[in-house]
Amino acid sequence: MLPRCADTTILTDTETATLTPDGPVQLALMETEESAEEFRCELQAAHPDRHAGYVQDGDDEMVWWVRWGPGGPRELVTVPNDDHCQGELPEDELVCTLLEHWGGHCFELEGGQ
Ligand SMILES: [Zn+2]
Ligand SMILES: [Zn+2]
Repeated sequence: MLPRCADTTILTDTETATLTPDGPVQLALMETEESAEEFRCELQAAHPDRHAGYVQDGDDEMVWWVRWGPGGPRELVTVPNDDHCQGELPEDELVCTLLEHWGGHCFELEGGQ
């Protein structure tokens, strides 16, 4: 397995409300964290550019991610399903769920999905 980036970020109440205008939905909460709004970067350790945390599925067409780190403010972004990594392990039917990325696929990272 490849090491996973350990950086985390916490969404504000305002950001969470942006995601859930009609009430609470299931967020991709970190299983080992007590904070309900903390998200861990999903990329391989030492990756270039910004951190990227999976937040939740949107509708059938897109997924919410949070980006943060060098190069700009933390921001919630929607990523069309078509822009996600197409990496897969056919023999195990594993498909990478990360947005377009550098480094290992999610199924190659420690603690990945
Ligand atoms: Zn990161
Ligand atoms: Zn991938």
